[in-house]
Amino acid sequence: MVGGVAGGMAAAARLRRLDESARVTVLERGRHVSFAGCGLPYYLGGEVPDQESLLLHTPESLEAALALDVRVGHEVLGLNPEDQTARVRAGAQEFDLPYDELILAPGATPILPPGDGLKNPRNPRVRALRTIEDAAVLRALAQGAASGANRAVVLGAGFIGLEAAEALRSRGLNVTLVELANQVLPPLEPELAWLVGDELRRLGVDVRTGVKAEKVSDAVRHSAVHLSSGEVVDADMVLLSVGAKPDTAPFEAAGVVSERGAILVDHHGRTNLPHVWAVGDATLSTDAVTGTRKPVALAGPAVRAGRLVADAIGAPGARAIPRPLGTAIVRVGGLTAAMTGANRAALRAAGREFATVHVHAAQHVEWLPGAQRLHLVAHFDPATGALLGAQAVGPVGVDKRIDVIATAIRAGMTAPDLMDLDLCYSPPYGAPRDPVTMVGLVADNVVTGQTRLWQSDELDWATNQALLLDVRSPDEFAAGHLAGAVNVPHTALRGRLAEVRELAGGRQIAVLCESGVRSYTAHRILTAAGLESRTLSGGMATLRAWLGDSVSDLVNCGAEP
Ligand code: FAD
Repeated sequence: MVGGVAGGMAAAARLRRLDESARVTVLERGRHVSFAGCGLPYYLGGEVPDQESLLLHTPESLEAALALDVRVGHEVLGLNPEDQTARVRAGAQEFDLPYDELILAPGATPILPPGDGLKNPRNPRVRALRTIEDAAVLRALAQGAASGANRAVVLGAGFIGLEAAEALRSRGLNVTLVELANQVLPPLEPELAWLVGDELRRLGVDVRTGVKAEKVSDAVRHSAVHLSSGEVVDADMVLLSVGAKPDTAPFEAAGVVSERGAILVDHHGRTNLPHVWAVGDATLSTDAVTGTRKPVALAGPAVRAGRLVADAIGAPGARAIPRPLGTAIVRVGGLTAAMTGANRAALRAAGREFATVHVHAAQHVEWLPGAQRLHLVAHFDPATGALLGAQAVGPVGVDKRIDVIATAIRAGMTAPDLMDLDLCYSPPYGAPRDPVTMVGLVADNVVTGQTRLWQSDELDWATNQALLLDVRSPDEFAAGHLAGAVNVPHTALRGRLAEVRELAGGRQIAVLCESGVRSYTAHRILTAAGLESRTLSGGMATLRAWLGDSVSDLVNCGAEP
């Protein structure tokens, strides 16, 4: 095994359990094996009190439990596939180590953004968070808060950037989070990312999106991050989290075929070279939904592949490595954001037709104290109903809903099939209609044509070409509504159909309410009356989050009839 953390160690342990007589050697460049890399942000913040908690095993414990020959401080510099040897450097020594089978699990290395002081940084205040050593240095810098160092800049608002920003903020630092994309957590749909951005602002993080860090300059006591907006942000520490790239250079040089640096493997983890296998962040995966090929840097797929490669080495008919769905989750303050399958951008890039539904529902029955709304978005094929992806944000119960949908996608269920799920219910845990089953109900209505939706990105159509019909109560309407909207509460609609028909004047009717439930009822009333209408997916709750900062330009307060 080259690499002794997630994928490499999973393979090593499985090999031993399959074959007590095998000689299993793990070569790890760093000082630690089998450490909880995912715990580094929590160590940085202090939630994990000490480094020891992150060290799951040592070479000694692995020798004792699994008879593994684990060598830390051993870097593989290259391979000779003909004579089946790996070139290894250990301190000042270099030697060739023979193998019968070789599993590459070298993971990924942080991308250092271009710009002075950022690439190959020698500045001790600028660092990525990847290893235990990184975390220790960054934690020491953060603890310098007590001695006056209190400004941190985090570059990149992906999963690790968000965790790091929260960790540093929890230590009392003033944190600026800089993201090139126009939103935090770029894989998240914009209408959900807005909620996450809002939570970061509530935590006191200074969130800058749509800007790039161009350089870091160094002063005596601090650094300064120069942004593309022209602003300069002083920083006592700069944490780089703009992504990672497969750490595969020595293996590519030896003839292992890769694409954009990620090793190409078959469904058993075989590379193009005989007896050489690869798993984890260093490999190219085929997305389960879109078929797109890209590296997936997640721990679950890495350990899964590690075990299955060990199986394939032992038995040719072994189970194939499943295509990843990219199921991922992150805590941000009091919120959780999670996703599985494809998002809109991935579906568009793959040329897939899709429909989108939004559900805003509490994690358990509304009438029990403690009910809190979660926001769920799901994409599916409008013709077949095939489930393509889902994402959710909320304070409680997000993990459960996304895990259920991830399971449903893996099982080949359609979006309407979700309404058949027999999920557990008693008041503290759920509702007879769980948010997941509600996705199924709405999707079924869409696929069967019972509902026609309009989406927040069709606001131009709704305001310029359709009659905008807001069916909320007059009080809700007065508290904020779209310019030009006409208010007819859904309870009054049956008695005011003639008026609505006249106002529409042959145009389609774009109906909306707060979450999409009342507007669905209104849409059915209008359809039965022969009026053509569409109901806003997720209602004003989705639209407000979609509009983000520009909401005040488009949503008027003050009563209009
Ligand atoms: P790694 O676990 O990174 O192991 C690769 C090892 O190979 C490294 O220790 C490296 O030193 C060694 N190596 C590299 N080249 C050589 C060489 N030439 N010779 C010898 N050794 C070499 N994933 C999640 O799913 N959920 C999370 O919450 C999550 N949080 C994360 C938080 C952080 C801060 C980080 C950095 C990652 C996080 N991940 C998370 C990602 C997850 O850790 C990785 O996807 C996973 O560890 C990949 O496993 P791997 O075996 O491919 O590589």
